[in-house]
Amino acid sequence: MIKYHPSEQILQSYVQGELCASLSVAVSMHIDMCPQCQRLAHQIETSCAHSFIGENFEPQSEDNWDDLIAQITEDVLFDERPAPAPLEIEVKGEQFILPSSLHNIGLSGWLKLGKLSRSRLNLGDGKLHASLLHIEKGGSVPQHTHKGFELTLLLSGEFKDEMDSYVPGDFIMLDGEHEHSPVATESCLCFTLADDALHFSQGLSQLFNPIGKLIY
Ligand SMILES: [Zn+2]
Repeated sequence: MIKYHPSEQILQSYVQGELCASLSVAVSMHIDMCPQCQRLAHQIETSCAHSFIGENFEPQSEDNWDDLIAQITEDVLFDERPAPAPLEIEVKGEQFILPSSLHNIGLSGWLKLGKLSRSRLNLGDGKLHASLLHIEKGGSVPQHTHKGFELTLLLSGEFKDEMDSYVPGDFIMLDGEHEHSPVATESCLCFTLADDALHFSQGLSQLFNPIGKLIY
């Protein structure tokens, strides 16, 4: 079961179109995987529609408002959109179907370092780097903290760190306060977003700092 979700503040900004492209894509993928956040985003949309109508229209009876909001929030328009063809990728002989939010986004070639493989997503957010990270079963990222923040959205597989174990859909937001060393208990595909390279923190693993730059 998914335990880690975007904060309500992030969902609110998502609904209002205030997030940068890469974070917006991450929230959209999480919502596709998480019924709980689907409901919450829908409630926020409804209440935004309420306040929009309140600001822009003459007051009407409560019944009319509900009708109007039902029309605005109706999903018909979205449902009629043809589903994009699944975009399948292959990493280390494994096939993955990418979430529809990632279709039409440029993907660089795979950079491989032992059990880790990384491909950069071209989302045009400057210093904010979005990537797909594949970790083979048993692979790990040396213990590190983050100079900025790191978001990991697990798309497939399972991994664990000192804090917990994670399943597909988990939306894990970490910053400089967190120190962890993730290990893939199953082969994993993650969407990652970071605004600075990782900072490897323990003894010899400080030697891995250049790897941090390559991974993120
Ligand atoms: Zn959620």
